[in-house]
Amino acid sequence: MSRGKQSRGKCGFCGREMTKGGLSRHLSSCSQRQEAIRTANQEPGREQVIYHLLVRDAWLSDFWLHLEMNGSATLADLDHYLRAIWLECCGHLSQFSIGGWGGREIPKRSRAEQVFRLGVELTHIYDFGTSSETLIKVVGVREGKPLTSHPIALMARNDQPEARCMECEQPASWLCLECMYELNETGMLCDEHVQDHPHEAYGAPMPLVNSPRVGMCSYCGPAEPPY
Ligand SMILES: [Zn+2]
Ligand SMILES: [Zn+2]
Ligand SMILES: [Zn+2]
Ligand SMILES: [Zn+2]
Repeated sequence: MSRGKQSRGKCGFCGREMTKGGLSRHLSSCSQRQEAIRTANQEPGREQVIYHLLVRDAWLSDFWLHLEMNGSATLADLDHYLRAIWLECCGHLSQFSIGGWGGREIPKRSRAEQVFRLGVELTHIYDFGTSSETLIKVVGVREGKPLTSHPIALMARNDQPEARCMECEQPASWLCLECMYELNETGMLCDEHVQDHPHEAYGAPMPLVNSPRVGMCSYCGPAEPPY
């Protein structure tokens, strides 16, 4: 699925398209985000430390998220978020750890403010069989009030990676797992060639969704944020 150039995504505040690294810099200065923060800070409620997290798949660099997480939110909140937007297939176990491979497990009841500092990176593993591995790095910290009533807010995510039909090279929106696993094909199909596609051993072709877990275990989306 790699196309040799970096995937891009839109700033959720001003709509500008950038790479994940560009957005790390941009989000710290985006005038529309600054405006949203000023507005939030005038609302009632208590101030807290709020973390800008760059979340990325450990192996597929096309997939990333820029999140804002309240200091009072727990890693269980983050686990729930990652399952909804990227990972959940059949309720597998998951774990957060710090210190890379062989690092120390961090309990999910921990609050963000107990774990995060600028530059800290956690690893999240979902499913210890067909594992999805996600890296979560703190790239910014602010003090103030959250932008939403939820523990986590989505600021940007990668655009859906472009895929081409293996039959005709037109844009693909379906994936046949049998082609992928048994025939070593990409399995990508357009709306036309998905009609009458002969394979069923892995179920009918699934919609291609914006998640690094596509094609793993019985994942089938929808790859939408939980709120
Ligand atoms: Zn912006
Ligand atoms: Zn599963
Ligand atoms: Zn086609
Ligand atoms: Zn097939």
